[in-house]
Amino acid sequence: MQAILDRITETARAATDRGKVATYIPELAGVDPQRFGIAVALADGQVLHAGDAQVPFSIQSISKVFTLAIALGRLGDRLWKGVGREPSGQAFNSILQLEHEHGRPRNPFINAGAIAVTDAILAGHKPREMLGELLRFIRTAAGDDDIHINDAVARSEQATGHRNMALAHFMRAHGNLANAPELTLGAYFHQCAVEMSAVQLALSGRFLMAAPGAPRMVSPARVRRINAMMMMCGHYDASGDFAYRVGLPGKSGVGGGILVVAPGRASIAVWSPGLNAQGNSKLGTEAMEHLARETGWSVFG
Ligand code: GLN
Repeated sequence: MQAILDRITETARAATDRGKVATYIPELAGVDPQRFGIAVALADGQVLHAGDAQVPFSIQSISKVFTLAIALGRLGDRLWKGVGREPSGQAFNSILQLEHEHGRPRNPFINAGAIAVTDAILAGHKPREMLGELLRFIRTAAGDDDIHINDAVARSEQATGHRNMALAHFMRAHGNLANAPELTLGAYFHQCAVEMSAVQLALSGRFLMAAPGAPRMVSPARVRRINAMMMMCGHYDASGDFAYRVGLPGKSGVGGGILVVAPGRASIAVWSPGLNAQGNSKLGTEAMEHLARETGWSVFG
């Protein structure tokens, strides 16, 4: 496995087309596109890594996996009243479908759906409490307390996130947001600004591989469902392509991270800041494809 990770890192280091770093969140625009790190937490407890796997990065939309887990724990199936579970086939920040479907987002991983999920777990709490619970969940899952929110990144998105504000207000107009949009958005921008290294992210995803030694954060039935959502919706309008190329459930973020689960075998995290046209890490996707090919890991047999 170490040899595979070293080879993947070497290939990534040499790549000339690295995709484009997200610039719509100004604080993320300055991240070095040459960065590359990969980490694998195996079912037997070993953690292997290569490249910049210990450098923290902004997990952005990968946080949506943790908020979904918390929301399902809190609301159970009632969550699906306000958000669907179908792939959207549209960009992560699209508003088109939301109007068509009367303010009920397609799934919990597009921005509108994630904002609705955050709104659901915020109900009855202060944003500070909700974010505290999220950090506790992630730190427990990773077995590492040194995981934090980068306030500058959160503020940077708060100052510029007009598309997300539009999505939130649109849902509120349809009665599909319980809290004031500003409150829900503040919590959402901060959850996206959680920082982790690839090693920490791989560790935090162990609960989804459902191996005997992995931390048990949610029930086995729920693990399957979260993995199903990641497979169908984790890469927005490139989810089909990711399933075809990698064959494992995954969730991407515009910080360039991807968390992938090989059920019963491993939790894998990769980081390369340059994105492809669908807003997923370009070299990160290629690295996961490479890893799946070399290990033969796939949920499809
Ligand atoms: N915070 C980002 C946004 O809302 C998250 C998007 C992403 O990572 N795909 O636009």
